Formats: sequence, C-alpha cells, structure tokens
Amino acid sequence: MKLYNKHRKVELIIDQELLEKIGNTGIVHFPNEFGGFLIGKYSDDYRTLFITDYILPKSYKGSRYLFERSSKGMKSFFSKLFKKKKEYYVGEWHTHPNGSTGFSETDLNAMINIEASPSVNIKNPVLLILGISEKQLNQATFYIYDNKKLIPYE
Ligand SMILES: [Zn+2]
Repeated sequence: MKLYNKHRKVELIIDQELLEKIGNTGIVHFPNEFGGFLIGKYSDDYRTLFITDYILPKSYKGSRYLFERSSKGMKSFFSKLFKKKKEYYVGEWHTHPNGSTGFSETDLNAMINIEASPSVNIKNPVLLILGISEKQLNQATFYIYDNKKLIPYE
C-alpha cells in the first residue's frame, strides 16, 4: 500500500499484511484502545518512509477512550534495533474501538509532547489510527506530524 502526503510531498509504504497484523493486535484488546510504536526506514532522499514493523510498549494504560504508552525501556531497545537492522522508531499507532480514524485533541497533544521529547530524534513522527470493531479492522489512517499539526496521508 502506497500513500501520499501532499502537504510534505512525501510517501509512505506499508504492506497490507503488516497493517492487518497491527489491526489484529489491536482487536485483541477490544473494546479498549491499544497501541504502540512504529518501526521503519527512509529512502536516501527522505521522501519515502517504509513502515517495516511495529512494537508493543513495555507498559501502558488502555481504556475505552484513552491509550497512553510509556517509553520506559524503549530507548535502549531502539538503539539496539538501529545497530542490528538500521531501522528506527518512526511514530505511533493506536486503535479507536468502534470509532473513526479522526484524531482527538489528546492524540494531537501526545504527538506534540513526543516530538518535543529529547529521547525522540525524528522531526516528523507518523501517527497511525486504526478504526476497529470487535472482529475487524475497518479503516486505517496515517498522519504526519508537522509543526503542531497532524496531516493525513491519502
Ligand atoms: Zn486516539
């Protein structure tokens, strides 16, 4: 699956199979929200982002309308991952059970904090929101974070 972000003129590539896998991981926690981290790599010109994997947080709080992950233990995990596979943290994902893939105020604020966090050294993290029901993934929307805004890929 290839998506394009007009605002930043960048593209994002993810296998449908991987997206389904992330969705299924979220469905296990239905009706609570669930999520984690996205792993990937960029093309040499930084115009294409390949999402290659996803990671579950070591600790988190997930309820019906909220998901908060802790970044505890992740910094060393990500640095090992980079050394081993030259892939790194590129953003976040979480589910909206029986909900749309629109982002909430809380979602935007979380991304503002993530970008400002010293443990994250990427400028435009990605946010993936998955609209799920009890049995299936209904919709998936990727956003790019830029200057306190979230802009969807199409
Ligand atoms: Zn959300």
